Amino acid sequence: MINFNIPPYTGKELDYIKQAVESRKICGDGQFTKKCQELIEEYTGTKKCLLTTSGTDSLEMAAVLADIKEGDEVIMPSYTFVSTANAFVLRGAKIVFVDIRPDTMNIDEKLIEDAITDKTKAIVPVHYAGVGCEMDAIMEIAKNHGLKVIEDAAQGVMGFYKGKALGSIGDFGCYSFHETKNYSMGEGGAILINNENDVLRGEIVREKGTNRSQFFRGQVDKYTWMDVGSSFLPSELNAAYLYAQLEIKEKINEERLKCWNFYYENLKDLAEKGLIELSFIPKECSHNAHMFYIKTENLEVRTKLISYLKEHGIGSVFHYVPLHSSPAGEKFSRFNGEDKYTTKESERLTRLPMYYGLTLQQCGQIVDCIHEFYK
Ligand SMILES: *Cc1c(COP(=O)(O)O)cnc(C)c1O
Repeated sequence: MINFNIPPYTGKELDYIKQAVESRKICGDGQFTKKCQELIEEYTGTKKCLLTTSGTDSLEMAAVLADIKEGDEVIMPSYTFVSTANAFVLRGAKIVFVDIRPDTMNIDEKLIEDAITDKTKAIVPVHYAGVGCEMDAIMEIAKNHGLKVIEDAAQGVMGFYKGKALGSIGDFGCYSFHETKNYSMGEGGAILINNENDVLRGEIVREKGTNRSQFFRGQVDKYTWMDVGSSFLPSELNAAYLYAQLEIKEKINEERLKCWNFYYENLKDLAEKGLIELSFIPKECSHNAHMFYIKTENLEVRTKLISYLKEHGIGSVFHYVPLHSSPAGEKFSRFNGEDKYTTKESERLTRLPMYYGLTLQQCGQIVDCIHEFYK
């Protein structure tokens, strides 16, 4: 059996968790949280990285920091995870979906401007599969209309757009360290705060709305309630688990890319024959092999392919059901313009096994099985 996903484990995690336990500091913001944050700040160049309890919570924090209020509108793709939308719905916002580009499955930057009204407050690009959205165009639109940009970079850790780390380009960037992501702490995430002006408020919102972080730095002599907030900081035990992977983030990235490239090279013939489609990586992007997907001709072929792979012991899965067609989507959102690609492309997409530790031999088995299917 080849699983679709196995959570990353490098071997040092238990040692680091033991160190955290022995340090008698297992709540948030201990040595491992600091180490993870510094490492992410260094590689992304962001002003401030704060670990959080999930990618979802990073998005919720970003919605608070972007001052999203009742009646505001937020633009995003419908082809995404529920949390991208929920974080803003929780603040009372209405979600405005626009169509995706069929080549990257990312928001179509050319359709954003048409969705802007006088209620629009923010754009939320989702870097699907760790491949960057067209950020230059998106940042330009945001600047011209005075909008915030919150990057859902849950899948984008170690992905880059024009040399800039995904998550470090907009006002805020949201990472996930869920067990299905490239780097994991079980449940967890991080928020990148890219403007100096938002850093202090970010620390306050994350610490239940108090200035406890300043208190611990000796900048104030007592800590108190300053703002809205919640408990967004993870335990040291989780941070210790994550640190073991972040320490070798390049190695993990390279290993994943090896599998990704192998899949790509060995499935190219089927794509050339027009039987499947492979993903497209724009030249501006260097991706992190978060996901390897193929697109079949239609939903029917996809269903057959997934069962065929399953019969041969290979776990492959489809992905998002577009949010605008869900029960909550009908209540909280509208789709601006035509759904030309969101539904159609989502029905064709299948993800193949991809995780740290997957071997090229296993990839070979999977590729052979797909060839058999198409014979
Ligand atoms: C995983 C994911 C999230 C949510 O992250 P959690 O850590 O599971 O809360 C949000 N958006 C996208 C695009 C994701 O892939």
